[in-house]
Amino acid sequence: MSERRLVMVPGPINFEPSVLREMAVEGLDHTSSEFVDAFAESLAMLRKVVNATDGYQPIVIAGSGTLAMEASVTNFLKKDSKVLIVSNGYFGDRFAELLSRYPVHVDMIKPEVLGDAVSPEKIIAAVEKESYDLVTLTHVDTSTAVLQPVREVGKALRNKDTLLVVDGVCSVGGEEIHIVEDGIDVLFTGSQKALGVPPGLAILWLSPKALEKLKNVSNNLSPYYTDLRKWVDVMRSYESRKPSYFGTPAVNLIVALKKSLELILKEGLDRRFTRHKQISEAFREGVKALGLQLLPKEENVAHTVTAVKLPPNVDLTSFVSSVRGMGVLIARGLLKEVNYFRVGHMGSVNANDIIATVAAIERALYKHGYNFKFGDGLAKTQEVLFKYGF
Ligand code: PMP
Repeated sequence: MSERRLVMVPGPINFEPSVLREMAVEGLDHTSSEFVDAFAESLAMLRKVVNATDGYQPIVIAGSGTLAMEASVTNFLKKDSKVLIVSNGYFGDRFAELLSRYPVHVDMIKPEVLGDAVSPEKIIAAVEKESYDLVTLTHVDTSTAVLQPVREVGKALRNKDTLLVVDGVCSVGGEEIHIVEDGIDVLFTGSQKALGVPPGLAILWLSPKALEKLKNVSNNLSPYYTDLRKWVDVMRSYESRKPSYFGTPAVNLIVALKKSLELILKEGLDRRFTRHKQISEAFREGVKALGLQLLPKEENVAHTVTAVKLPPNVDLTSFVSSVRGMGVLIARGLLKEVNYFRVGHMGSVNANDIIATVAAIERALYKHGYNFKFGDGLAKTQEVLFKYGF
């Protein structure tokens, strides 16, 4: 039995061998000039990936996406602050769960139908009615594979005191983000998804407005380790090529990040986002040709992950384990109320990966007695891939 696996869950993804090889570096300490240069270059490239200008500050901390999520809010909140959470699923709801541990007031907006995004008009109406310290959006909610529009909300908040916090864990590096034009004040991600680096880095970007707030807010609710004031100083020091210390940086992961960012920028952001759009379309059209329905509404599908409903007579656990048994690792749905599975297609995902995934899904469906003609999904996937020149 081969040890090769095709990882098609929405993170961690299949990592590029050249990125993984970087991690095997030996004898790298965080004050060495080799590491200082690697960290400084990574921070400069992190600005580019989200189209940030010099006034925006990227921050890299050892931890997972959830750590970045906690830091993205607690640093800007005080007792009795008000937060508006826009939630399209499990990860949007997580903001509420997280904030329930802090003495703040929370309002939440959700779409009326699971799989929809929340309309920007509805969010703007809410922020006109109440003055919030923060609004949180989940750019791609990995549980529903819904892409939430950001820019209209960013524009509406630009001249207000409110900060716009965006969870980009399932989007940065795979979905288009223009942090400046989108009006995002605090953006965060984890390394293991479309940035293509093994799990362990929590990455944030702060806008000039967020940096100003951070300077002026006293008695914020941040825990010690995620105090972004400390980390901003550390990042600025590294960027001016001087080592600095607050907590030991994850040196091996950071040199891997540098390699992965080089690959991303070499591909070119436009080309990368187009590839994510085309590959995800090939997958969506393939499963639709099998008669399956998507969880998200067509106009707000994400391009990094797809959520597909299973017919009620196909058992989710058994279906997912069949596909996984065929060497293609896909994920169950995260929400209990729907019978569905999820496929991640981000980072270095290619046409062959998508073909193998649709093929395994067809065989598993056939095994589970689902009525369709073998090859219908594959034919459609092939057609879309061919149309885009793959
Ligand atoms: N937000 C989103 C949208 C996610 O997909 C995830 C991880 N799946 C997280 C937050 C949490 O990140 P982590 O698992 O790295 O803590």
